[in-house]
Amino acid sequence: MDQIKNYISGDLIPPGSGEYIQNYNPATGEVYSLLPDSDTEDVQHAVEAAQRAFPSWSTMMVEDRSQLLLRIADLIERDIEKLAVAESIDQGKPVTLAKSVDIPRAARNFRFFATAVLHFASEAHPMGNEALNYTLRHPLGIVGAISPWNLPLYLFTWKIAPALATGNCVIGKPSELTPMTAYMLSQLCIEGGLPPGVLNIVHGYGNKVGSAIVSRHGIAAITFTGGTKTGAEIAKTAAPMFKKLSLEMGGKNPTIIFADCDFEKMMETTIRSSFENQGEICLCGSRIFIERPLYDRFKEEFVERTKQLRIGDPLENSTQIGAINSLQHLQKILSYIMLAQSEGGRILCGGSRVHLEGRCKYGWFIEPTVIEGVPHDCRTNQEEIFGPVVTLTPFDTEEEVLMYANSTQYGLAATLWTNDLSRAHRISAKIESGIVWVNCWMLRDLRTPFGGMKDSGVGREGGVEAVRFFTEPKNVCIKI
Ligand code: NAD
Repeated sequence: MDQIKNYISGDLIPPGSGEYIQNYNPATGEVYSLLPDSDTEDVQHAVEAAQRAFPSWSTMMVEDRSQLLLRIADLIERDIEKLAVAESIDQGKPVTLAKSVDIPRAARNFRFFATAVLHFASEAHPMGNEALNYTLRHPLGIVGAISPWNLPLYLFTWKIAPALATGNCVIGKPSELTPMTAYMLSQLCIEGGLPPGVLNIVHGYGNKVGSAIVSRHGIAAITFTGGTKTGAEIAKTAAPMFKKLSLEMGGKNPTIIFADCDFEKMMETTIRSSFENQGEICLCGSRIFIERPLYDRFKEEFVERTKQLRIGDPLENSTQIGAINSLQHLQKILSYIMLAQSEGGRILCGGSRVHLEGRCKYGWFIEPTVIEGVPHDCRTNQEEIFGPVVTLTPFDTEEEVLMYANSTQYGLAATLWTNDLSRAHRISAKIESGIVWVNCWMLRDLRTPFGGMKDSGVGREGGVEAVRFFTEPKNVCIKI
């Protein structure tokens, strides 16, 4: 059985405790590898390694740092097949999705930030003939990067790449549920010649390794993606230590559909924005609001197309809906489907666990589920389910749908379908979310600010926002 190792000071090493955690394949329900059950001591070694590496990494010419990171991007691209299969086995997602989205994006994250820093310039503020201010941007030092299980390598590299590119050293902690591609990344970093200690990856539980990273003095900033409850826990510890914090958290995103939209494009994309990656994408739209004149037509066609989605072995190319990442998460999703029914919801399709034949007989699969008839303020429509479950709600006016859309504690992303340009501007301005997509979904330009409002996030990552987050500005004022 594969035994994953920590990556500390350039070496692949077992955890100090010698203890391991079982790692499951969600498609078969079987343990297929082991990952380190690391603790404070392993984090301590990683911090010491990062402290040794920091002086030369942070002062290296930016072109040289960039070259090293571009080399890692090349190696990820070289191994795209291997990484995609590993991601699919570890996470449960269709291998086709890992191959077309997750792994290419991981390489792109490295490439984007390796080149972004080559063009980054800081400001100067001249005061006439009296003085000149200029801003230096130093790396922060050591950064902790903690990531979730839904888009494992994609989100891990989204944090690591900008932190490294700006001259920081990193202690990374991938989710204990999906450690495999982070382990493979550590092998690629060794092959690519990344200096020892620049990136360290410590595997294990959130409440051991994660909290050790958050509470450790000497780690200057935490970049976290995961659930809102965990984010609050992290903030409670890190804020009084005055660590810089970037928190990307949960969502309950609205998809708002007006009757004047391009029906075919909207339908095709709404199927994806509802169920891609089994609905386990923080940006998926789980509350669908449809203008009343379109409601019946939408419902009929949406339910029909949802029923046609192929649930199956994630390693088969024809599969569209793979396995749910963990048994615990599967049970949580099923409990929300029951809750929806108790709140008056009618299940239009799906609603049950799926038992496949053959290799995936004991895997964790759920039918994509469409529910109608639940009020906008009930728990089903307020709490994050993070699975292949959506609700349909009709609306009559812009004011009404804005009230529905903005009624949750979350504010990550919203999708709007309309061909009325004025309305698109009007609603985009009023919607409480960090990202608004109009007539599209998941169309990402890495230069744009990414993150959420309200309980969905603190701070923004992406483009210049990330470069700013991972550096400390210092103003120098020189009297002329
Ligand atoms: P989670 O909060 O349970 O875990 C995320 C990471 O935090 C894991 O690595 C975990 O081990 C670690 N962790 C857990 N407890 C910790 C603690 N006390 N201290 C430090 N670290 C700790 O989230 P998850 O279940 O892995 O991911 C799903 C959630 O992530 C959903 O809410 C989803 O919306 C959110 N998410 C948000 C974004 C975004 O960009 N906003 C992207 C993807 C996922």
